[in-house]
Amino acid sequence: MKDFQQVLFDRYAKTCRQCTGEEVYRALLAYTKERLAGRGYQDGKRKLYYLSAEFLTGKLLSNNLINLGIYDQVSAFLAENGKSLAELEALEPEPSLGNGGLGRLAACFLDSIATLGLPGEGIGLNYHLGLFHQAFQNRLQRETPDPWLTEEGWLTASDVSYEVPYRGFTLRSVLYDMDISGYENKSIRLHLFDTQIADESIVGDGISFDKNDLLHNLTLFLYPDDSDDAGRRLRVYQQYFLVSSAAQYILDQAVQRGSKLHDLADYAVIQINDTHPSMVIPELIRLLGLRGIGFEEASAIVSRMCAYTNHTILAEALEKWPLSYLEEAVPQLVPIIRRLDAGIRSRYPEEESTWIIDGDGLVHMAHMDIHCGFSVNGVAALHTEILKTSELRDFYRLYPEKFSNKTNGITFRRWLLHCNRPLSSWITSRIGQGFKRDAGELEKLLAFRNDPAALEELLEIKAAAKRDCAAFVLDNTGVEIDPDSVFDIQIKRLHEYKRQQLNALYIIRRYLEIKAGKRPERPVTFLFGAKAAPAYVIAKDIVHLLLCLQELTCGDPDVSPYLRVVMVENYNVTAAEKLIPACDISEQISLASKEASGTGNMKLMLNGAVTLGTMDGANVEIRELVGEENIYIFGQSSQAVIDRYAAEDYDPQEILEEDGEVRSCVDFIVGPELLALGCKENLTRLHRELTGRDYFMTLPDFQDYVKTKDRALAGYEDRTAWAKKMLTNIAKAGYFSSDRTIRQYNEDIWHL
Ligand SMILES: *Cc1c(COP(=O)(O)O)cnc(C)c1O
Repeated sequence: MKDFQQVLFDRYAKTCRQCTGEEVYRALLAYTKERLAGRGYQDGKRKLYYLSAEFLTGKLLSNNLINLGIYDQVSAFLAENGKSLAELEALEPEPSLGNGGLGRLAACFLDSIATLGLPGEGIGLNYHLGLFHQAFQNRLQRETPDPWLTEEGWLTASDVSYEVPYRGFTLRSVLYDMDISGYENKSIRLHLFDTQIADESIVGDGISFDKNDLLHNLTLFLYPDDSDDAGRRLRVYQQYFLVSSAAQYILDQAVQRGSKLHDLADYAVIQINDTHPSMVIPELIRLLGLRGIGFEEASAIVSRMCAYTNHTILAEALEKWPLSYLEEAVPQLVPIIRRLDAGIRSRYPEEESTWIIDGDGLVHMAHMDIHCGFSVNGVAALHTEILKTSELRDFYRLYPEKFSNKTNGITFRRWLLHCNRPLSSWITSRIGQGFKRDAGELEKLLAFRNDPAALEELLEIKAAAKRDCAAFVLDNTGVEIDPDSVFDIQIKRLHEYKRQQLNALYIIRRYLEIKAGKRPERPVTFLFGAKAAPAYVIAKDIVHLLLCLQELTCGDPDVSPYLRVVMVENYNVTAAEKLIPACDISEQISLASKEASGTGNMKLMLNGAVTLGTMDGANVEIRELVGEENIYIFGQSSQAVIDRYAAEDYDPQEILEEDGEVRSCVDFIVGPELLALGCKENLTRLHRELTGRDYFMTLPDFQDYVKTKDRALAGYEDRTAWAKKMLTNIAKAGYFSSDRTIRQYNEDIWHL
């Protein structure tokens, strides 16, 4: 560590011991950045550009040290000098460039692309204030800006800059780069475009700002509130800023590598991560036109370059922009989109459902991606099947060869080596280092299924992780939790389809049982972490319910020894890293057919949690891998749900009339106990939603959920049997390494 000592000395003329934590942190950041750059970048003639509105990278310091292979060395050096890596990490802000699973997936993919040594780059936007910071006030979510940019950070300014034309004005984009390290390999770059004139001072109360002040607001927030017209227009402006900058960059780079543009598809492949970057298709056609390539050839070139990943079948999440918005913001794209649409109409006159522009003048971004790209993929086996047979059926008939499945994955560097060092060391002690490069080697752990000492060690690692997590929870929420209780964890964005409300109803049932004198042998702690979209009213009502339940259970001495609900504030990657190693029961309870894949389920399984879930998304594949006896499955099948939506015959009242138990749990939401703690408006609105509509079918799955969860809790009591389940889950998690996913993207789609 002589070279690091030199960095400290050059900067501060002090030794490590004499420096403050902040000084050591900054020096270590600079030192790490230099080491990363010193390794060079993956290059190649043909490059992948991963276009995404989000990259939820998480903090980077520890991960970079691990990937550089110097984590232990640095950590020992700091310890010798009275500092700790954990203390320095606490000083690092988490880049707030993503929302949830989709953004986290993009970050895992960059890690794997670098680790596999593939020439790829990410392209996104540099949101100054992120999504938002979540705080709880009077048991309600309050949003504030989440600034993360600091004078010294992971970003490096570049001299790359482009003009982005809008109707009536032009904005200049400037590029910042962030190095993403490969595990014991070179780095790749994440390119983040920004404006030079973003103005944080226009933000008023909370996260409100003038949505029409486009010159100053474009890169302030990710997904600004789109509940009104001004918000939706702003998204169009943002998306075009991303894709126009990206397209210009991709063209320039390809030309620099020798492309004559006619052969552009030999130099660049673009993965469009969900529909937010879809305008890259007409934009590339436009730019090629400016460089002398006619429409027909340009659209043929672009169609060999672009591949689209679908992430959702929720209708409201499939983007459709009114042509009038595009006319207003980016009129130069409109004739191109119309011409693409006209081509489709003449080629497929009978296939009206697939046209790009519909009868209401809405541009269906996914339709454009599928017609004009060469690949469409879903993100888990079940999800891809549903796309083929139901949501995108008409497209699958036209282009069966374009469709494929790429089951999501997670990077084990972050979600095991970094977040759970004790488990990672234990695995190494049992099966060696090989699993770090080849996740499939985790299966070697199965040899210890009947080894009492190994199982005992595994239980002890989990117990220690729960103690650490309890300290984190105390710090985050002020609530004390019992590390000997079962940790039942649901952490993910708040959405009705993810059904945090179903978990809440179970908790209410348990509360009522305890109040009636039925005290469980072992306490259970129900941990939640979730941000609700600022304009999603019912999601915020569910947050309110959970916070009221926290107050109710933790504040009642009859109940708190047996049952506690705790909701962690501002759930993000950093919080996930603390919660995941400590989980016993992983709640993956989305309404079947609605969760495209999930990746939280994979992280938790890898860390020895047992899944309690529906047959949805990647849960289906988890079950196949670990077998029936190592997972708890409940609820309606995806087909039953799809049929029920088609029949439009679900009415929650029928269940409420028949099942007094469900009725009393649902009515508890507006009963005296909760009304004494919470806001009547929020609780009655949520109650009305559940009893009047229940669009995501919470009630039909309730009794099966209760039975299955009780079975899981009983299963926990046979500690040896439970440890075997944990071990099997870890051993079978190798399939969910994003290295596997990225290999498949490369073999089937990118061909780098
Ligand atoms: C993994 C992850 C998610 C995705 O969780 P799901 O359970 O798959 O929805 C969301 N947020 C963060 C911070 C994550 O790390």
